[in-house]
Amino acid sequence: MALDPETLSQLLDTVRRFVDNRLRPLEAKVAEDDAIPAEVVQDMRDMGLFGMSIPETYGGLGLAMSEEVQIAFLLGRTSPAFRSLMGTNNGIGSQGIVIDGTDEQKSHYLPRLASGELIGSFCLTEPGSGSDAGSLRTSARRDGDDFLINGTKRYITNAPEAGVFTVFARTNPDSRDASGVSAFVVDANLPGISLGPNDHKMGQKGAHTCDVIFDNVRVPVSAIIGGEARLHQGFKTAMKVLDRGRLHIGSVCVGVAERLIEDSLRYSLEREQFGKPIGEFQLIQAMLADSKAEAYAARCMVEETARRKDQGIDVSTEAACCKMYASEMVGRVADRAVQIHGGAGYIADYGIERFYRDVRLFRIYEGTTQIQQLVIARNMLKDARTW
Ligand SMILES: Cc1cc2nc3c(=O)[nH]c(=O)nc-3n(C[C@H](O)[C@H](O)[C@H](O)COP(=O)(O)OP(=O)(O)OC[C@H]3O[C@@H](n4cnc5c(N)ncnc54)[C@H](O)[C@@H]3O)c2cc1C
Repeated sequence: MALDPETLSQLLDTVRRFVDNRLRPLEAKVAEDDAIPAEVVQDMRDMGLFGMSIPETYGGLGLAMSEEVQIAFLLGRTSPAFRSLMGTNNGIGSQGIVIDGTDEQKSHYLPRLASGELIGSFCLTEPGSGSDAGSLRTSARRDGDDFLINGTKRYITNAPEAGVFTVFARTNPDSRDASGVSAFVVDANLPGISLGPNDHKMGQKGAHTCDVIFDNVRVPVSAIIGGEARLHQGFKTAMKVLDRGRLHIGSVCVGVAERLIEDSLRYSLEREQFGKPIGEFQLIQAMLADSKAEAYAARCMVEETARRKDQGIDVSTEAACCKMYASEMVGRVADRAVQIHGGAGYIADYGIERFYRDVRLFRIYEGTTQIQQLVIARNMLKDARTW
């Protein structure tokens, strides 16, 4: 564990109060304005929330996975857009550098990512490659001591706010798969980088995505994450950050589900029909009970997998199970929450329909449910061959 139990408990209390008192009252406004107020972003910075997974040596909190999931459970108890802003700095936007970066890359980028001064985005998906990310077409062509990057990246979270991009590009033009791809750390203000307009998303308003276009962007060889020794190894770097990301998303899903269950419980005690609170009807109780059991199952899965990861055990299969189960689970819980709220669940004033739209994304990004199924089954078959 990175923190002693008392410090962890204080941190959890602070985050719980921040979520309840500061973030939850702003949920409707953030959705309406499609923006998180600057003062709130500063509060997140002051609490160290941008650097949860970055080592203390570089200014982060250096949390163990089982500590990070406890924080993510709490962050899930409000609109996912808040979590999304700090999500890339804690996950896909920083972990490549943490795991495989050179000392220079670590000391140059990590302190500013940890403080939230710099937002990091992860540029993998392209117009022609999503689930089959290894087929990406963005190229990085060698030119003396530099590379020239050309291509378009799609749906990139926090790109409009980003100061640095982790960019996956094909460095071996003869390859067609992941084996010829390298990961670069690229400053967002370099000549040749432009952004598309913000995407109009189904939900998670306040969190932004857009295209990132690279037109002959010149970067030195030293921009390869891990340096020249890691040429063509970019996909291996990407795969290493995935377990942590999957567990993090799984725990956010648990947090949202727990929030929606509480909202549904409160409503089922207040709302009366046929002369009694709807919570007294067994058909409503069944929905509450199913949601509770499923959220509890997902919480246990995430906690157990995080503990195993902290022990150094390979949790690739289990992390995919957590992401798949928790993201599907929160979709069912959100659907039941709408049903329990009846017409009020469908009307924007109550915020339930907003969560229903917000949680839909969890089944799509950082690997769709189908890709998690493929990962789980592939690992199962591989293990079975050694029996
Ligand atoms: C809001 C948002 C934020 C995002 N943020 C980022 C980001 O920061 N960085 C980034 O790089 N990407 C990001 N993405 C992209 C995201 O990771 C991809 O959308 C996702 O991986 C799916 O790729 P795709 O959209 O191309 O769908 P496709 O890969 O085209 O999939 C379409 C359907 O086919 C299914 N499918 C595909 N292959 C198979 C198969 N072999 N077997 C069975 N079914 C299959 C999929 O599960 C899906 O149901 C984001 C996307 C969104 C919507």
